[in-house]
Amino acid sequence: MNCPKCESTQIIKYGHTHYGKPRFRCQNCGRQFVEDATRQPIDEATRELIDKLLLLRIALAAIARVTGVSERWLQMYVNQKFYQVSKTSEVTQKTGSVDNASLCS
Ligand SMILES: [Zn+2]
Repeated sequence: MNCPKCESTQIIKYGHTHYGKPRFRCQNCGRQFVEDATRQPIDEATRELIDKLLLLRIALAAIARVTGVSERWLQMYVNQKFYQVSKTSEVTQKTGSVDNASLCS
């Protein structure tokens, strides 16, 4: 395990969090941190697979199980995605109405 700040391996145990996870402290820079597996980034291939499964309207719990991501992360990902989609469609609609107007005149 390395320090997330300075990459030092001089790590000591430093008690526990409220959730019972072991907390660590870097002896080099003094940074305190928790080793958290759920923080690992989701790779592109998994995201693409999730996108496809979402299009098939498969339940989030099932997608989480198939792809191995946490349901909490998936919910966050979906929220983010739908927000982006609604923003994009707004822009498309505006562009479309301009085109229609120029066709009429
Ligand atoms: Zn450090």
